[in-house]
Amino acid sequence: MNMITNHMPTAELQKLDAAHHMHPFTAGDGLADKGARIIKSAKGIYLTDTDGHEILDGMSGLWCVNIGYGRTELADVAARQMAELPYYNTFFQTSHVPAIALSAKLAELAPGDLNHVFFAGSGSEANDTNIRMVRHYWAMKGQPSKRVIISRRNAYHGSSVGSGSLGGMSAMHEQGGMPIPGIHHINQPDWWSEGGDMEREAFGLARAQELEAAIEELGPENVAAFIGEPIQGAGGVIIPPECYWSEIKRICDHYGILLIADEVICGFGRTGNWFGSETLGITPDIMTIAKGLSSGYQPIGGSIVSDEVASVIAQDEFNHGYTYSGHPVASAVALENLRILQEERIVDHVRDVAAPYLVEKWSQMTDHPMVGEARITGLMGSMALTPHKESRAKFKADAGTVGFMCRERCFANNLVMRHVGDRMIIAPPLVITPAEIDILIERAWKSLDQGMAAVKDAGLWEPA
Ligand SMILES: *Cc1c(COP(=O)(O)O)cnc(C)c1O
Repeated sequence: MNMITNHMPTAELQKLDAAHHMHPFTAGDGLADKGARIIKSAKGIYLTDTDGHEILDGMSGLWCVNIGYGRTELADVAARQMAELPYYNTFFQTSHVPAIALSAKLAELAPGDLNHVFFAGSGSEANDTNIRMVRHYWAMKGQPSKRVIISRRNAYHGSSVGSGSLGGMSAMHEQGGMPIPGIHHINQPDWWSEGGDMEREAFGLARAQELEAAIEELGPENVAAFIGEPIQGAGGVIIPPECYWSEIKRICDHYGILLIADEVICGFGRTGNWFGSETLGITPDIMTIAKGLSSGYQPIGGSIVSDEVASVIAQDEFNHGYTYSGHPVASAVALENLRILQEERIVDHVRDVAAPYLVEKWSQMTDHPMVGEARITGLMGSMALTPHKESRAKFKADAGTVGFMCRERCFANNLVMRHVGDRMIIAPPLVITPAEIDILIERAWKSLDQGMAAVKDAGLWEPA
């Protein structure tokens, strides 16, 4: 049998990887020259690579491994479910126990009247569902012209054509013909980069009121919904000013447009409540979920839908669904993940222990000469790097150059911390302890010191 195992030397694995594996969001040639870091196993908050490095995963994989690595209960559940019923669908008037149990559990956990779940295989698929569901909802209500969905620049809602169009990533839109028609983008509430001379709250209010201006311009009779991440994740962990979401909610209510909260990152404990909507005071009609739903142990996503929207959709056949909607193994694993989150009181741990400790340590990072602002809510935080704090100046280099240099130092110091432009971001597993937070912070400081030295050596320590 021709097996590719971890026993193969790293260099050989890297060669095969470069020859045959196309990586997401990666310049393949650049990676091939350098060789990918190959992760072999993981436990708790630590990854182990094929060279034996133990790396603190400050990003929970891709913001998803909320309960941490190595929980064999999930593997056991998957094996049992595969033996009993590895696959069946819920099309054509059938159902199965894992999908029933998971949807009931989600209805119990979700706030308000969000009591109905449409499953998908990922967050991208769930947002594609949302595009069609909100338009179909208005059509069913006799208002088929309500089709436009308003989103924000620098939002991330997935990578399929629909969800990538909802998102506001210009680098994505430049490739392959996005966005699709019927999506309108307003500006994001990123005060650090875009606030200019405005005071933070005034800026937040102005950015929220762009929604009102857009609805007026498009005509309320043409607008179906607004979508936003409670806290933008992939855009750089942009924590909005206090007043932002209450103003958005007022506008959605006033014009009667649906509000979709994309909870793919914020959901399942990340912000210290079950959902980011609770932390930020949002009352959505639909929530997108994925990532932490299964802690990444299985691919699964979905839309949690209000009584009102679900009751309208139920009146006729909704011609939509995925082969793996409510997949029994993924559903069973997600259910076990939720059991662990709940019984081990992991959301309480975030709110009462881990977040307060990390917030204190993270805020102190502004003492570093290169860190302009360091904001964090729950266990998702970011810091803005700058050569001049008072003016919030950018570096005299392409955006992301300095961030990348710091990220490389983090990796070398066995810490996964991502960069988005010149912001450094973290979102560690929710089970992280104060002692582990100390290690994270120590490695982050060291990496910033080394990063700053490299920036100076490269002659980039200059305001643009
Ligand atoms: C990751 C992400 C998605 C897309 O989820 P996939 O499972 O990668 O398709 C959607 N929305 C947000 C906020 C995300 O962070």
